[in-house]
Amino acid sequence: MEARRLFLAGTWQEGAAGVLEIHSPHDGVVVSRVGRADGDQLAAAATAAAQAAPVLAALSPAGRAAILERAAELLRARRDEAAALLVAEAGKPVTLARVEAERAVDVLTDSAHVARYPHLESRDLGGFASGAGRLALIRRVPVGPVLAITPFNFPLMLVAHKLGPAVAAGCPVVLKPASQTPSPALLLAEILAEAGLPPGGLSVLPASSGDMAALVRDPRFRLLTFTGSAEVGWGLKREVWDRRVALELGGNAAAVIEPDAGDLGEVAKRLALGAYGFAGQSCISVQRILVHEAVYEPFREAMTAAARAVPAGDPADERVVCGPLIDAANADRVTRWIGEAVASGGQLLAGGDKHGTVVTPALLDAVPADQPVVADEVFGPVAVLIRTSSFEEALTLVNASRYGLQAGVFTSDLGKVRRAWEVLEVGGVIQGDMPTWRSDPMPYGGVKGSGIGREGPASAYLEMTEERLLVLR
Ligand code: NAP
Repeated sequence: MEARRLFLAGTWQEGAAGVLEIHSPHDGVVVSRVGRADGDQLAAAATAAAQAAPVLAALSPAGRAAILERAAELLRARRDEAAALLVAEAGKPVTLARVEAERAVDVLTDSAHVARYPHLESRDLGGFASGAGRLALIRRVPVGPVLAITPFNFPLMLVAHKLGPAVAAGCPVVLKPASQTPSPALLLAEILAEAGLPPGGLSVLPASSGDMAALVRDPRFRLLTFTGSAEVGWGLKREVWDRRVALELGGNAAAVIEPDAGDLGEVAKRLALGAYGFAGQSCISVQRILVHEAVYEPFREAMTAAARAVPAGDPADERVVCGPLIDAANADRVTRWIGEAVASGGQLLAGGDKHGTVVTPALLDAVPADQPVVADEVFGPVAVLIRTSSFEEALTLVNASRYGLQAGVFTSDLGKVRRAWEVLEVGGVIQGDMPTWRSDPMPYGGVKGSGIGREGPASAYLEMTEERLLVLR
């Protein structure tokens, strides 16, 4: 199998640091071979990005929008190929892989909208004596070269969330995809180049994380935008204390079920999708389910049935929702955490068996709050039921986490929804649905240990631009 080349500032090159072999998370077969950049190639990409910054900044809004619109069309035409890469490298169930490919098209389309209508603000400064007779115009200018690092789990859609807004903002990007799933980012590079992105505007370089240290410290990158684990993200921020950093990190998302939640069977089915879809390998996967005592028993029954009904196995199978974990080490860790939860007094209501790298959808009850399946990010097909005696208690428990990405609140009482919106320490409250729900244009991101900054093209555009003021006499 020929190795895919890496994309360095408009050129396709062999990886000077050798070839990465990508194994299927499901059966271990080698599914791709991809070139890996060495330190010199990474340095060359950084220099090319710095040199391209004025070229990208000078692209007109119409020019940026046209590139993104064309890229969206090209990706739409190649979405089956993109979905096949997601199944092969990430082990993503094929139906969910198709959704990711469609969503990446949406991200590019929405980025084109953002590009086409640039921000321009005006203010009459005459309201104070110091500003008498002066008008202010405020536009947004690109911050300059962006260093982007992305995780394995949404290797197309999350890469689009970095590249689309960067093109809209006029920033060159050097992107390092996850070593487990590098090919979708290279596909997107090919598409953006074909869509007319100037050379130097983008490099996509699979590389070892150790080799990234020089780029992370390189002051020519004006923004580090990182999506991945909290541990790595906060560690990188320490290195980049003097420049902008956007961090999209992990969580242990909660859903709150109130007695007025509606049809408990439907709620359980929805939460099963959020907890077990793609084996729970989403940063907003349903992990903690806080259920009011008035409906606890019937909900537990409904959720147990819903967990048992989720088809697990081969990601290429159209029926499968819960595919493999990304690798054997993670399958072992997840089953170990389930075992520890049971040993500490928890009750396993469904699943938790391991077949190769597939762990069957696990539902736990009565687990002590300090267990990793409650307190840490499982990033696996595991959900935990927690009994609550009031809505206020449920809100307190949602906040009893070092993370805060999104929370789902199932109630038909708008007063409770408003209260949740006021007090929950999360980036977003989702009413009547799982915390896993996301539409790509919306502002998305976390508080506390889950990160800083927001994605969604309009929000990421703000991270990638800064205000420049003109005062007119
Ligand atoms: P990860 O281990 O943190 O890796 C993420 C990326 O960082 C990979 O490209 C990795 O490269 C790279 N990396 C690791 N150490 C590095 C270092 N010292 N310097 C520079 N780069 C380094 O995360 P993951 O396992 O791929 O992804 C799962 C995590 O991402 C979960 O915690 C999940 O919650 C989070 N996530 C968050 C969001 C969000 O929007 N909030 C979305 C998706 C995922 P290698 O692959 O080469 O190691």
